[in-house]
Amino acid sequence: ACADSSSAACEPLPVLGSDVLVPLVTGGEVTYAALDYAASAPALRRVWDDIAAYAPYYGSVHRGAGYLSQLSTDLFENSRKDVAAFLGCREDDQVVFTRSTTDSLNLLAAVAPRGTEVFVFETEHHASLLPWEQREDVTVRYLSAPRSPRQAVETLEKALAGRAKGPALVCVTGASNVTGELWPVRELAAAAHAHGARIVLDAAQLAPHHPVDIAEAGVDWVAFSGHKLYAPFGAGVLAGRADWLREARPYLAGGGASRKVTRRDDGGVDVEWHTTAARHEAGSPNVIGVYAIASACRALTEAGFEGLLARERQLIEKVRAGLAEVPEVRVLSLFGDDAPRVGVLSFVVEGWNSSHFAAALSAEYGIGVRDGLFCAHPLVRTLLDSEPDEPGECGAPEAAPGERSLNAIRVSFGAGTPDEHVERFVGAVK
Ligand code: PMP
Repeated sequence: ACADSSSAACEPLPVLGSDVLVPLVTGGEVTYAALDYAASAPALRRVWDDIAAYAPYYGSVHRGAGYLSQLSTDLFENSRKDVAAFLGCREDDQVVFTRSTTDSLNLLAAVAPRGTEVFVFETEHHASLLPWEQREDVTVRYLSAPRSPRQAVETLEKALAGRAKGPALVCVTGASNVTGELWPVRELAAAAHAHGARIVLDAAQLAPHHPVDIAEAGVDWVAFSGHKLYAPFGAGVLAGRADWLREARPYLAGGGASRKVTRRDDGGVDVEWHTTAARHEAGSPNVIGVYAIASACRALTEAGFEGLLARERQLIEKVRAGLAEVPEVRVLSLFGDDAPRVGVLSFVVEGWNSSHFAAALSAEYGIGVRDGLFCAHPLVRTLLDSEPDEPGECGAPEAAPGERSLNAIRVSFGAGTPDEHVERFVGAVK
C-alpha cells in the first residue's frame, strides 16, 4: 500500500509536538525528531482534541448525582466498552483500568491463585519479570532466551511438559521493547492451553503497532499502557478472564471497590466487594487518562492498522538499510536481522559509548532516542554478550571509552513519524 508514499494509507497520522523547535549545540534550530516512541509516544491530535472537548466538564465518576458526574461516568464506562472492542474481548472478559502496563501486570500477579506456577522468559521487560518476585507463594520458572520464534515455542512446551498440577501462567511480550521483534503469541498461547496453563500478553509495545485480538490470539489477559498508544495521562489496561480477578482480594482496597461495608458486633467490619472491574479500581479514577486511551483506540481503529503497518515497514526498512551502511553499527536481535519487528530497533556503535552517542544525537541533531538497558537487563546483556556490572535502574551504566558497550541505543517510531526524522537519524549516525 505504501509503494507510492503519497497514497492515503501512508499519510502519517497527525501527532502533537511534531513541530517543536529545538536549539542545537552546533548552532541553529531544527524541528524535534521524537524517535523514542517505545518509551512514550506523542499524543495523536485527535486524542488531544477529544480531551480538550471533554476536559472542562469532568466530574467525579460513580460518585455524584450531578450532570457532570453523570457525563463523566458515562464517558468512563463507555471507554471500557471502546477498549473491549479494540482488544476483541470475549463476552465475559473484564477490562480493568490501571495506571500502566507495570500496574496491570502487578495486578495480575496479585490476583493469581496461591501456588500458581509462572513461566516467564528471562528476556521479558522487568514489568513482566519482577512482579512475581513479590509473591512468596508462587513458583517462578525462568525460561532461557530463545534464538528463534520456533525455539521460543519449543522451550515453553518443554517447560510446561514438566509442570506440576494446579494453576499455571505464561507471561510473554508481543513485541520486544529492545529489539522490536514480534513473538509468536498465538503459538505460545496454544502451547500454554494445551498444557492447561493460562497466558498473559504484555502488549505495551505491540498494541501501538499491531491489532491485538484477545480472542483470536487465544490469550487470557492483555496489558498495555496509554502513553505508548498515543494517549497521555498515566492510565493503563488489564483486560481478560474475569475469574481470577473476581475471586481474589482487591488489588486496591477502598471506596468504589466495595458494595457494602457493615460494622460487626465485635467492632470489626464486614465488606462485600464488587465482582466487576471496580473491585480493583478503588479511589477516584483517572477519568481523563482513561478517556484518552479510549479515544486513541477509536482513532487507531478508524485509521486502520493496515496503513500504519505499511508506513512503519517503510520506515523500518529505511533505518535498517541506512544502519547497514555503517560497518561500526551492530543491530541487536534475538531472532535474526530479518525477523519481523515493529518500529523499535536497538544497536551499538563500535568505539562509541552508547550514552554519549545518544546525547550527541540530541544535542547536535535534535533527535530524541534512548540509551540504556531498557528495563530488560537480562535481555540486553544476552544481546550484548556482557556480564552484569554495577546495579543501575533502567538507565545507563557507562562504558569507559574504547570498552565494549554495556548498554545500547534504541530508536523507535510510529504514527506521525515523517520520513525526514528517520532520514536525519540515519544521516546523523553515518
Ligand atoms: N512492557 C514493555 C514491553 C514495555 O516496553 C514497557 C515500557 N517500557 C512496559 C512493559 C512498562 O510500561 P509502563 O512503563 O507504561 O508501565
